[in-house]
Amino acid sequence: MRLDLRELINIPGKSISFSYDLDLGNMAFPSVKEIKRPLAVEGTVYNEAGVVRLKAEVSCDLICICDRCASEFCKTKQLDVEAVFADEIVNEDNVDIFLLDGNFADIDEVIISAFVLSMESKFLCRDDCKGLCPQCGKNLNEGPCSCKSDVDPRLAVLEQLLDD
Ligand SMILES: [Zn+2]
Ligand SMILES: [Zn+2]
Repeated sequence: MRLDLRELINIPGKSISFSYDLDLGNMAFPSVKEIKRPLAVEGTVYNEAGVVRLKAEVSCDLICICDRCASEFCKTKQLDVEAVFADEIVNEDNVDIFLLDGNFADIDEVIISAFVLSMESKFLCRDDCKGLCPQCGKNLNEGPCSCKSDVDPRLAVLEQLLDD
């Protein structure tokens, strides 16, 4: 979305609110199988003492693939975005600066850039995901498998005796 800032660009204290759905098209991310709905974007562009700033909240639902057990799960991702629009790139304290196109600001560019940078490269279905057994491939979240490492220690002793 391109936002017309004519009304606020030279007027300190002015602000414009916006809210829209941003479709990422076929943008793909590692460990994300699907983006279930477009990014819901809600924010404000405001003129603070002559500096044009943006603040926005972004949310979407992702179908992720667990890095340990490969199961699919749904996750809602939320993100706060802050940026500054200017006619030229100058050094500002840790805030991303985007160029104005005349009186217009390209909101999509800001949101997509923040979204891509914030995207996790790995997801876990839960913090304590037990993953898959390296030997039989069973999902250990569903219960133990019958591979050797999970054998009852008393049986393991017996097995060792038999091996000898
Ligand atoms: Zn998992
Ligand atoms: Zn196993």
